[in-house]
Amino acid sequence: MPLFSHPEFDAHETVSFCFDAATGLRAIIAVHNTNLGRALGGCRMWPYASEAEALTDVLRLSRGMTYKAALAGLPQGGGKSVIIGDPRRDKTPELLRAMGRAVDRLGGAYVIAEDSGTSVADMRLIAEVTPHVGGLADARSVAAGRSGDPSPATAKGVFIGIQAAVKHLWQRDDLRGLRVAVQGVGNVGYRLCRHLYDAGARLWVTDLHAPAVERCVREFGAVAVGMDQIAALDVDVFAPCALGAVLNDASIPALKARIVAGAANNQLARPEHDRVLMERGILYAPDYCINAGGIIDIFYEGPDYDAATVDAHLQRIGSTLSEIFARAAAERRPTGEIADRMAEARLRR
Ligand code: NAD
Repeated sequence: MPLFSHPEFDAHETVSFCFDAATGLRAIIAVHNTNLGRALGGCRMWPYASEAEALTDVLRLSRGMTYKAALAGLPQGGGKSVIIGDPRRDKTPELLRAMGRAVDRLGGAYVIAEDSGTSVADMRLIAEVTPHVGGLADARSVAAGRSGDPSPATAKGVFIGIQAAVKHLWQRDDLRGLRVAVQGVGNVGYRLCRHLYDAGARLWVTDLHAPAVERCVREFGAVAVGMDQIAALDVDVFAPCALGAVLNDASIPALKARIVAGAANNQLARPEHDRVLMERGILYAPDYCINAGGIIDIFYEGPDYDAATVDAHLQRIGSTLSEIFARAAAERRPTGEIADRMAEARLRR
């Protein structure tokens, strides 16, 4: 299994392979870049089909965290970890503590947090053996006003991003009558719908889970549509808030929305779909920029948590996107490419 010549290797500072015979822990921690600060990133536990698949995931995800933090203006680096195993079957307190000891050995270069397959309760166990744990939403943060759930901040950031996109394209400050299709109305999508509804937008929604759709119909007068219809609706904005790779060879030609702006991670099936969107005249808000509200919120957790400070930082998602849109238009380059260049410039500084 190559590392330095791996297609996803991108000058990662440290890649640690962690093994613990007593608990069966098999994990990989990737610290991509610490130029701006300690590398923060979630720990994903997943029954990877192979070690190669786990390595690919951790290399790709840790790099994404570096770019996300840099573009969000956070003094934080990018990292990620993966535990190979089924979280429902293989996760034990001892295995988590062994993971914590592996994190501790890196001396603080990597700060672990929850991700798919791990929870806040798991992070509390890990915190028994290392101080390098984030996203705990401990009692001090909650007492100071943090909800403990990053979704409200993520939804607010996406709403601010949609405002920036509308302003760029139509020079409009208000969203009254704007037609928005939201794919996935879970933690983030539902809250995004609330912001849009309060701003006077009209909503079309879909979800795998029927009660989630019914709630949006009831509370926001949203129109329920089928899962296979949402991306091709005749609306102004398509907001993917469910799963990745929704912008692909099949969906892009059918898009009628002029703006794609949503919370989902890894929306582009392949990097070049960014250019395909541009060539179709569709304004794409790079996912890792518009969905950074959650890590911004987590960054401020602690006894000094101040909602107004977090809110001011969330507003910067809008100004960063406005800059990306303006530069992309001026340079006739895709927005995702501009976002990457801006993040890299911040990393060099
Ligand atoms: P969630 O699980 O609460 O909501 C996702 C919703 O999408 C669920 O209701 C699910 O039923 C629905 N869904 C799944 N597949 C679907 C499909 N094919 N069509 C329609 N609906 C489908 O997750 P969330 O926390 O709201 O996150 C949504 C997206 O945003 C994810 O991609 C997540 O990685 C990303 N994200 C979330 C945060 C956060 O703070 N929660 C931060 C950054 C990025």
